[in-house]
Amino acid sequence: MVVRLGGYARISLDKDGEELGVERQRRDYRQVAGVRPGWEVARDYIDNDLSAFKRNVVRPEFERLLVDLQSGVIEGVIAYDLDRLARQPRDLERLIDVFEDRTELVFCTVTNDIDLSTSDGRTMARVMVAFANKASADTGRRVARKHRELADAGKNGGGFPPFGWKADRITIDPVQAELIAEAHDALLAGTRLSTITAEWQEKGIRTSRNTGKPITRVALKGILTNPRLAGFRAVKGQKHIGPDGKPVMGMWEPICTPEKLDAVVAVLEGVNSRYRANNLSNNHKYLLSGILRCAECGTRMIANMRSSWKEGSKGSRFAYRCPAATDGGCGKVSRAGEPLDQHIINLIHDAEARLNAPAAEPVEWPGAARLAEVEQEIGELISAMNGKKISAATAIAMLEPLERERDELGYERNRHTVEQMKASAATVDLPDEFERLPIERQRSVVMKHIKAIVVQPAGRGARKFNPDLLDVVWTA
Ligand SMILES: [Zn+2]
Repeated sequence: MVVRLGGYARISLDKDGEELGVERQRRDYRQVAGVRPGWEVARDYIDNDLSAFKRNVVRPEFERLLVDLQSGVIEGVIAYDLDRLARQPRDLERLIDVFEDRTELVFCTVTNDIDLSTSDGRTMARVMVAFANKASADTGRRVARKHRELADAGKNGGGFPPFGWKADRITIDPVQAELIAEAHDALLAGTRLSTITAEWQEKGIRTSRNTGKPITRVALKGILTNPRLAGFRAVKGQKHIGPDGKPVMGMWEPICTPEKLDAVVAVLEGVNSRYRANNLSNNHKYLLSGILRCAECGTRMIANMRSSWKEGSKGSRFAYRCPAATDGGCGKVSRAGEPLDQHIINLIHDAEARLNAPAAEPVEWPGAARLAEVEQEIGELISAMNGKKISAATAIAMLEPLERERDELGYERNRHTVEQMKASAATVDLPDEFERLPIERQRSVVMKHIKAIVVQPAGRGARKFNPDLLDVVWTA
């Protein structure tokens, strides 16, 4: 009688120096099967590079082995070692379930006498897996503790050199640091992240990881919001808080100030959504979309390409229109886009020229002293709690209002910073500089001066652009 077995082998990236190649595992269990009368390895189930210890890792061949055992495709399992098969108790229990279900199944490993088809064998297996599991968890804790010690000391972790620094991870790379500074200023002045991403892609900028692929929006966001830029030691992208309750500072040269970093994060994370809600959405491709309003019904007008427009033909390639009734407008008012844009750019030009007074001195944020005070108190509380000078319950009760105040002040400060940066960045020398700005920046400049433009119907046959049919509502 032939017993058809499934052979299971796995290699993991545990780096414990005892790594066994899959080939070696397979040769050994086939040898063992060969000396048992009637045993035959019908199929090999090989999982590669997967740790059986990590909880969230799915091992496809292990899953398949369970199914094949349950359905009778194979009549037993042979593996090099029990810990190749199961290092998590719950994986072992799933295997045991199958063996309890089908008592005729056979089980064998090369290295020990565990037999899952007997009750004693199952008990033994549970003990062995429990111990192996504890050993792995201890290793994990040791690694985590070492990382935390490095972080507490503000020392560099491993991995690729971060963007902005040289390979020593301490000295600034002037070219990369300049790119970061420019991108920060652009973001704070209203340029969208996707616009900057496209610019970096065009310049062929790569991270030190150098995957050979153009930089992505997500990667760029990570670079521009890295706490490390302001000198903070970061763990998983977040500021690392030391035992004294304060952020740990690293031992490298910072690229920007903490205030600027916070403002950039606020812009990118949408923390300023309260602030932004008062502005118009800036996600538009045309200069005046949403700024123009229909005089008939008040609805914001949107831009469309003109279907009749062809390369070389006369007239504007796009038009602003009041949306159709089905989209909330009346559909009665429209205007050729290009002459209207040009007219408004001229108006803005004049307004900027009048405004061209010397740039205002940056205004200090008035809450700075209180914020420092609050942060100091929070640090002292956490320190007292860690030193067991006060109970955790008392500390938490005192911390809550302080943390609320800190967050509120932080939000106020970010808003102040963004406001200051916008004020200094939104003044441009028109029209040369204006044309080179990305569309969202152009719109910011327009919105600095103009709240809305009400568009009167032009009447039938009115072909020429007539500025008298516009009511411009200025901001001040
Ligand atoms: Zn309308």
